[in-house]
Parts: sequence; C-alpha cells; structure tokens
Amino acid sequence: MNPSTHADNAAHDIAAHLHPFTNLATHPQVGPLVIRRGDGIFVEDDQGRRYMEAMSGLWCASLGFSNERLAKAGSEALRSLPYYHTFNHRSNEAAIALAEKLLTLAPVPMSKVFFANSGSEANDSAVKLVWYYHNAIGKPDKKKIIARRNAYHGVTVAAASLSGLVPNHRDFDLPIARILHVDCPHHYRYAEAGESEEAFATRLADALEKRILEEGPETVGAFIAEPVMGAGGVLVPPATYFEKVQAVLAKYEVLLIADEVICGFCRTGEMFGSTTFGLRPDILTAAKALSSGYVPISAVMVSEKVHAAVAANSGKIGTFGHGFTYSGHPVACAIALETLQVYEDENILAHVKTLAPRFQQGLQRYAARPHVGEVRGVGLIGAIELAADPARRTPFDPAQKAGARVAELALEQGLIVRAMGDAVAFCPPLVISAAQIDEMFERFDRALVGFEASMA
Ligand code: PLP
Repeated sequence: MNPSTHADNAAHDIAAHLHPFTNLATHPQVGPLVIRRGDGIFVEDDQGRRYMEAMSGLWCASLGFSNERLAKAGSEALRSLPYYHTFNHRSNEAAIALAEKLLTLAPVPMSKVFFANSGSEANDSAVKLVWYYHNAIGKPDKKKIIARRNAYHGVTVAAASLSGLVPNHRDFDLPIARILHVDCPHHYRYAEAGESEEAFATRLADALEKRILEEGPETVGAFIAEPVMGAGGVLVPPATYFEKVQAVLAKYEVLLIADEVICGFCRTGEMFGSTTFGLRPDILTAAKALSSGYVPISAVMVSEKVHAAVAANSGKIGTFGHGFTYSGHPVACAIALETLQVYEDENILAHVKTLAPRFQQGLQRYAARPHVGEVRGVGLIGAIELAADPARRTPFDPAQKAGARVAELALEQGLIVRAMGDAVAFCPPLVISAAQIDEMFERFDRALVGFEASMA
C-alpha cells in the first residue's frame, strides 16, 4: 500500500478527527501535522520533514521513538497473553512483576500499586482513594482536596477539577465541589519585590495553613502537587517550599499526593521528583515515562497507612469497587517493565545527571536575551519565559501569542518545543546525547533570532 499524501491525510483528519487541546474552529484551516515515524529523538512527518522532538511528545517518550527492546517486549507480550484483567483476584505475571518493581523504586516506602491507563485516571483514582480512606477511618467530612493554581493533573472530571488552568474548567462546569486551589509557587511571577525564595515559600505555606483553618482542618483530606509543575509552565518550586508545605499538612493530618506523571523516572535527575524536592507522599501517581509513552499505563502507589484502611473497608463492603478493564493490562505492564529495565541497563539516571548541567547551562544562555524574562529548570526539563520587558517582568500581551510564535519558528528549524502561554518548554527524550543537546539549542537559537528580528 502506498503511503497517503499529506493532502489526503489532512482532508481525512479534518473530516473525521476531533483533536484534544486544539482550537477546533481553526483546525480546518490550520490542518494537522501528521507524524509518520520516529527514529531516536527525531520524528518525521508525512512530507518527509524531520524534527528533533525536544518535548518527548507530551513529556513522555523518554527512550525516544524507536526503542527496539520495547517493541520486542510488546510483541512478545501480545503473542503470549494479549489481554487479561485484574478484577476479582485475577492477576498476570507482568502486572505482579511491575508492581513489585515500582515498590523497589518508590521514593518513600509504599505498600501497594494500583494500575490505570493515564495520568488523569491515576489522579482520579487518587482522589477516590482519599475519599474512601477518610470514610474508612471514620472521618467522613475530611474530603476536600487542595491543589494549586496553574497545576495540571489531567482532564477527567476529578483530575480536571484538580488542574488549576482556566481552559480545563471553562464551560465544562468545573471544578467539582470539594476541590480548592491555592497560590501557585512561581517565584518569578508571584513573589513580591525583593522577596527571597525562602520568604515566598513561607508566605505560601502560611497562606495554605490559613486556608486549611478557614475551611476547617476536619474537612481537608489531601493536598496534591507536581514536584515540578509541567503544563503550568515548568515551574520549579522555590527553595524550602515543600518542606514548609509538608509541615502544615502534617499538622492537620492532610494526606500528600505527589503527581509524578511528568517528573517520575529520572526526569529531574533522580528517579522521582519527590526525591529531588523532598516530598514524602502518602499516594504517588505516575504515567508517561513509565512506559516511555509507548502504551497507555499509569500507576498509583499507596502507603501502608492508606492501604490498610482501604483494604479493611473493602472487606466490610465486600469489594474495592474501583478499577478499569485495562488495569494491569499484561501488554502495557510488560512494556513498562522493560522500560524500567532499560533505564537500569543503560544507566539512564546517571546519563541524566551527567547531561543535566549541559542542558541547564544551554538554557541559561538565553537569560540575557532581549525578550527572555526567566529561565528555569532541573534535570532534563526546563523552560524559558518570554517577556515584553524583562527588566520590569512585563509579560507580552497574550494577543501577540509570543510563545506560540517562537514554537512555530522552532518548528521551521526542525525543532519541536512547546509553548504554554509565553513559557517555551523543553523536555527532550532522556536518551538525548551531548551533541544533540547542542544541536537542539542551535536550532532554538535560530528560532529566537527570528523572533527577535520580528519584534525589532
Ligand atoms: N499529571 C500531570 C503532571 C501531567 O502532566 C499530565 C499530562 O500531561 C497528567 C497528569 C494527565 O495525564 P494523561 O494525559 O495521561 O491523562
């Protein structure tokens, strides 16, 4: 069969495909970018154009786009057991091995692993676990969950409610009840003049405590946080933030959910962002790099404190009435297991630690550019935030779509980055080489020069 032409693909895509996170009104004019194949950290479109994928797709393809070991693990799993479920005491060997493996990698002692298919489902499951847990321990009012403005936790009803981004709520009639949002820990944007990171963190922790007291500590069940806020613009927490927040949570017996969907599996220079930033979660959600994005799978790890109460309660009811048809899918688990094995065999964590300084220094070079307000990042994730007047921290008028223009110019240079407002993010596959990091910034530099020329 001959491959379709781009014109054919575009026409059929426009006619049949409803795209997520896309302006649906303009899609017929803009048309799709159709990616046909992947090769290492590159992808190729249906017109033969090659792009360096500096976002790992959606922060997930940690091993790049052509890992043979994952393909082999998947095809072997498909041949031996293409599907089985894990309801009603059923299990499969891949799910068992993966659960066990994850417990050995967990940043704090965890007791059990629940499987789902996406970050959203993992976070929805975490919310339900928090509610179930508090019913189980006889605190049925302790159900509110605190998230942060600019957080991104997914799009299912509870996860979208946890997210603190306007487009996830607007006209979807969200957030649902019992989900609260507190201040975003972005020092550059929200600190007061002259306020140190530590002082800013103290102010946010004090505000969190005040909010818990206003709501009534007996009504607040959990706090959810990404160690580094990803889709909110790659926001690295200010120094001492999590230490101070966790002291407040402990005081009022509020559980901590760490959303490790982006940070998990080496991205921040440790196996989990919780290790990098000192989080001690009761519940941890992971997805994306768990399978290098090759198949949908997510995991929810729970501490023994949570598990013991949940298990006892399910005993009273007769079942734990939650789970997905594909929870612990044997093919997904086999690929995830192989992904974790590749991290180990190829020493990906050490590779990230070695390359992180080159990556971060490469980003920092942009700090002095005329339209760059802030450069931030950790490990192999980072962003530059564009600003109309960096000295005054004045953002661009959103109508100028500065971030989107830079991403567009980068695409013309064969580089895929992601604009989130005026933050331009980089989250390359963890297997990127030193030379490829340099090439990534050379391409980006050309894009930025083009942007600067257009602003002159
Ligand atoms: N949590 C975080 C931190 C994410 O970045 C994402 C997706 O980008 C999600 C949850 C939702 O994951 P999914 O798109 O797999 O539902």
